[in-house]
Amino acid sequence: MSAPTTVLVSYDQLDRRRGALGHARPDDHPILLVESEGMLRSRTWHAQRLHLVLSAAEHLARELEDDGFVVRRIRAASTADGVRQYRNENPDRRIVAAEPSSHGLMRTWTDVGVDLLPDDRFLTSRADFTGWAEGRKTLRMDAFYRWQRQRLGILMDSSDPEGGSWSFDAENRLPPPKGSHPWPTPVHFAPDETDVRVWADIVARDLPVTGSPPSGHWATTRAGALEQLRHFVDDVLPEFGPYEDAMPLDTWTVNHSLLSPYLNLGLLHASEVVDAVLARHARGDVPISSTEGFIRQVIGWREYVNGMYWLLPDDYRDRNGLDAARPLPRALEEPGSTRMECVRSVVADVHERGWTHHIPRLMVLANLSLIAGVRPSELLDWMRRMFVDAADWVMVPNVIGMGVAADDGLMMTKPYAAGGAYLSRMGRYCKGCAFDPKKRVGDDACPFTTLYWDFIDRHRDTFASNPRMAQQVRGLDRLADLDDLRVRAREVLALLDSGEL
Ligand SMILES: Cc1cc2nc3c(=O)[nH]c(=O)nc-3n(C[C@H](O)[C@H](O)[C@H](O)COP(=O)(O)OP(=O)(O)OC[C@H]3O[C@@H](n4cnc5c(N)ncnc54)[C@H](O)[C@@H]3O)c2cc1C
Repeated sequence: MSAPTTVLVSYDQLDRRRGALGHARPDDHPILLVESEGMLRSRTWHAQRLHLVLSAAEHLARELEDDGFVVRRIRAASTADGVRQYRNENPDRRIVAAEPSSHGLMRTWTDVGVDLLPDDRFLTSRADFTGWAEGRKTLRMDAFYRWQRQRLGILMDSSDPEGGSWSFDAENRLPPPKGSHPWPTPVHFAPDETDVRVWADIVARDLPVTGSPPSGHWATTRAGALEQLRHFVDDVLPEFGPYEDAMPLDTWTVNHSLLSPYLNLGLLHASEVVDAVLARHARGDVPISSTEGFIRQVIGWREYVNGMYWLLPDDYRDRNGLDAARPLPRALEEPGSTRMECVRSVVADVHERGWTHHIPRLMVLANLSLIAGVRPSELLDWMRRMFVDAADWVMVPNVIGMGVAADDGLMMTKPYAAGGAYLSRMGRYCKGCAFDPKKRVGDDACPFTTLYWDFIDRHRDTFASNPRMAQQVRGLDRLADLDDLRVRAREVLALLDSGEL
């Protein structure tokens, strides 16, 4: 970079080795961090999410200062105002940053004249993804994932997939084990002086927060992120596959990696996660079903979602193809208010740690919103506030495309809708619940079971022409109690709206 240049660091681009920071030298390149008061106060954030983001940035700033960089922190009403303030004080300086990770910030930085360097936080550049997508009739993750495996040469035996299959999902997807199971013990990250100070500052400024305060679930440094990666690879990975979809009650982590916040903030890069997992796989004691299952998440889903976010226009976030118009259920803000044990338990987990694994996100939270017809934008906003790993690029496609099928089948071939039978098979919530997953009518019918059929009924015309949903429509027509089900569904939706379910 030619001097005089200042490096603007976004709060989710905290990787010293990449982006604009990767080019920075202490003597030539001051660092600029802008904290937007407007953003911090725009929503009530989960306390652990806010703390993680602010503390991780503060740790990086201090590390850079220790290494001789001049770091300027500006608190301003908005990011744009902060950059303008810096520019007024330093009119001759060029400001560079890595391409930001949201459409909104891209507009802001372009408006205020920040020069952008390519975003190298992913394995697939935006241009690579566009190249892959070009000329395709459908843009499915499976096809992208095969392309990634071949292109990157990961888990390949020359041109064939290692183990003879692209996916080992059929071996995974086990329900929770019966009886006690030796689940991994999560790493606890003791707060350091910076963590304590950042939290005290959040409290002193009276920033709007909800959920439990920080309590050591999340690392705020690269060293902590590396420790979590080591723990995952050494102690957790072998059983990642079999229980990937299970929702037991005696563990909050199951065998998931808990790496998403670090990947999304730039404390870890996807390539080092992939390398660590493949090195462990090479030792020969991790089943291919676990290795492949995990690799698919990182080089497949994560990259695909980012690619789709940039391929699609910004108004993709406003899609509402199923005309869902209900407000967010009260249970998501107040888990104690619901009698649906799965919802209570999952939302309580989210309030406790700002995280739950993929299946509760998809099959409990998003599924309830999908089959009840909750406005997609309300779920999106709630999830963005409440999850420690939330970011626009990852939340928008996951909620709009995958979670609530609001994009007319652009991402998924069918909606991820399920009734109580799925939740009872893959989770352990139903035993302690007031509702019966097998029943679809009556006061004690499981709301998921009732609403699942009602959802198919409400959208039968759309689903009848979808080859992957037509069978469900035929199943609906065989229900002898369809009229009673419709009546019960109206009751359930009224109870949901009044916050009494
Ligand atoms: C409605 C909904 C909302 C979601 N919101 C987010 C979000 O805000 N941030 C986020 O990082 N993930 C999100 N996901 C994807 C996924 O649920 C999380 O990445 C995962 O649960 C994080 O936990 P983990 O690190 O233990 O993941 P693991 O199960 O250990 O998977 C490993 C990694 O794969 C990546 N990954 C897996 N699935 C996806 C996916 N669908 N999209 C993108 N990356 C994926 C993540 O980086 C994750 O860390 C969402 C999924 C759904 C259905």
